[in-house]
Amino acid sequence: MDTLFGLRGRVALVTGSSRGIGRELATALADADATIVLNGLDADRLESARAEFATRFGAERVFAVAFDVTDESQVSAAVEHIESEIGPIDVLVNNAGIQHRVSLVDVALADWQRVLDVNLTSAFLVGREVARRMIGRGAGKVVNICSVQTDLARPTIGPYTAAKGGLRNLTRAMTAEWAGYGIQVNAVAPGYIHTEMTQNLVDDERFNSWIVGRTPAARWGTPADLAGPVVWLSSRGSDFVNGQVVFVDGGMTVVV
Ligand code: NDP
Repeated sequence: MDTLFGLRGRVALVTGSSRGIGRELATALADADATIVLNGLDADRLESARAEFATRFGAERVFAVAFDVTDESQVSAAVEHIESEIGPIDVLVNNAGIQHRVSLVDVALADWQRVLDVNLTSAFLVGREVARRMIGRGAGKVVNICSVQTDLARPTIGPYTAAKGGLRNLTRAMTAEWAGYGIQVNAVAPGYIHTEMTQNLVDDERFNSWIVGRTPAARWGTPADLAGPVVWLSSRGSDFVNGQVVFVDGGMTVVV
């Protein structure tokens, strides 16, 4: 029997793990002894992440599969490849995401669509492909990376807010359909986390001090702050936790 939060012998696919939060989550899952499948779009960046992970955790436990999480045929082929060549996917972390800052009256339909595709439809596409197999095995863990924008809104981030709100309810819909097959689907909603995605906001002095003042913990989050909750939701320690959203936001969503 594995330890409560241990993942020895499990295969974990983390989408968008070539950098940022996904990379840190993959590191934490590998630290918990999982075999890791890294993913991203940029093949060179992904390969350099794979090489660094392989040095740290051993090449036999680290794989990289480049695919676009919004492309149905690439998703099917990638999941088929992982399951046949690496092993059954026990843990799926739907992390890949993008932001596009523009007001709702100015956003072009193509940009709106892309934000919804990468942040929301991707979780449906990858989740559907993986769950079809998890259902047959009667077990699996899915963690969807939402955002405080799941609950809160701000100007110029409307498509992202709509997508992350949708991802919260997709988490519930997946739970309604898959919990009976032994699959736990939950979400983690990060607050403001310092990554490439938010570098421009960190650099913006006014925004930066507003965020720190607006967050009871009085600081930006780091990708490492998300590791514990995601490992927990990927482990048997969360076997009766279904359809929940864990806010990891330094308290931002509980104060006005
Ligand atoms: P980054 O921009 O740092 O990294 C995004 C990752 O997603 C990269 O690995 C990128 O791959 C990958 N990616 C983007 N599009 C695709 C695609 N179509 N197919 C496959 N992979 C793709 O983002 P963060 O690490 O900051 O964010 C990760 C997640 O956390 C996102 O879902 C984001 O919405 C969420 N989040 C982030 C917060 C923050 O403050 N940073 C706060 C709340 C939520 P490549 O390197 O090849 O481009």
